[in-house]
Amino acid sequence: MDKVRFGKTNFMVSRVAFGGIPIMRLGMDDAVKVVRDVIGMGVNFLDTAHVYVDSEEKIGKAIKGINRDSLIIASKSGSFDKNGFNADLDQCLKRLGADHVDLYQHHNIASKEIKDKVFGPGGAYEAMESAIKAGKVRFAAFSSHNSEVACQVMKTGHFASVQLPFNFLETSPEKEAIHLAKQLDMGFIAMKPMGGGMFDDAGLAFRYLLQFDNVIPDPGIEKSEEMRQIVGIVEANKALDDADKAKIAKIRAEIGSEWCHRCNYCQPCPQGIDISACLMAKSSCKRFTPDRARSMVGDNIEKARTCLECGECMTRCPYGLKIPELLKKNIAWWDENFKNK
Ligand code: SF4
Ligand code: SF4
Repeated sequence: MDKVRFGKTNFMVSRVAFGGIPIMRLGMDDAVKVVRDVIGMGVNFLDTAHVYVDSEEKIGKAIKGINRDSLIIASKSGSFDKNGFNADLDQCLKRLGADHVDLYQHHNIASKEIKDKVFGPGGAYEAMESAIKAGKVRFAAFSSHNSEVACQVMKTGHFASVQLPFNFLETSPEKEAIHLAKQLDMGFIAMKPMGGGMFDDAGLAFRYLLQFDNVIPDPGIEKSEEMRQIVGIVEANKALDDADKAKIAKIRAEIGSEWCHRCNYCQPCPQGIDISACLMAKSSCKRFTPDRARSMVGDNIEKARTCLECGECMTRCPYGLKIPELLKKNIAWWDENFKNK
C-alpha cells in the first residue's frame, strides 16, 4: 500500500489507518489475528486509546515480534491533568509492551474549558512535554469533535497532528481544519470515516476522503475482511463519479436534519444532560461492547428522561435539531434494545 508523509512527524504512513475501537468486542486471539492481518495488508498506522478497554493490550500482543520501527502507533489519554495523563501513558506503554508511543493524543479537546485545563498549571500538556523529553512519546497530538476548537488548538503550534470526525456527512473540517493542517505541516486523521455507523457504503466513504491528499482515514475495524475491502478501494484510488455524488446527496438528504454532529454547542443543559452522547446512543452501542455501551450510554439516557423540554439547547444547535424529540426517540430505542433486555 502507498505510504504518505504524515506532516512534520515525517512518518511515512499507509493511506489508511487502523482504528482500534471495535477489537474491544473480540476475544484476545481473534483481536490479535485481525491486527496482524491488517498489518499484513500493508497498513502500518494503528490508532487506539486508553479508554478503549483492552484495545492497547490487544495491539501490544499483536505487534510482538514485529519490527517496531515498521509501525506507527498512536494512542490517546482522556485525562486533562498531569497526574492522570502520566498514569494513562505509563499504562499505555505497559499494555503495548513498548518503551515509546509514536503519537500520543490528548483525547477530545472538545471545548475551550478543556483546552484551558490541558494548558493550565498542572495540566496534561506539562506531562506531555516531559514525556517527549523522556522519550516515551515521539510526537504530541490531539483529537477533538469540534472543528472550531480544534483549529484554535492547532494554532498553538504544539501539536504534530489533529484527529477530527470527517466524512461526507460531517464536513466541517473542510472549512478550515484540513487546510490549516497543511499550512502548519500537521498530520490529519479522519475519525468516523463511515459516519460512526450512519452509512455503510465503504466505496463512497473512502472515495470521498481520498480527495483530500493530507487526510488519513481511520476506520474502526472488527473483521479482517472489512479492512481488505477498504484497502482495495484505497489502492484502486478511483475518483468520485457522478453516480457516487448522487448517492451521497441522497444519503445526506435522508439523514439530513436528524444527525448530531457532536459539536456540543447546545450545552449547557440545565438538567446536565449529555445531549450528544444520548443522540449518538445507537452509534456508540454499535461500536462498543454491550457492557461498555451500558456504562457509557445508560447513565446519560437515564438523565435524558429528566429533560424539561425547555428548548434552550435548540436555540444553540446550529443544525436545527429538535433535541427533546430526538432524546425521546433515543430513550425509546434504548428501552427496546438494552434496558428491557
Ligand atoms: S430541552 Fe431538555 S435537553 Fe434541552 S436544555 Fe432543556 S432540559 Fe436540556
Ligand atoms: S445536538 Fe446540535 S448542538 Fe448539540 S452536539 Fe448535536 S449537533 Fe451539536
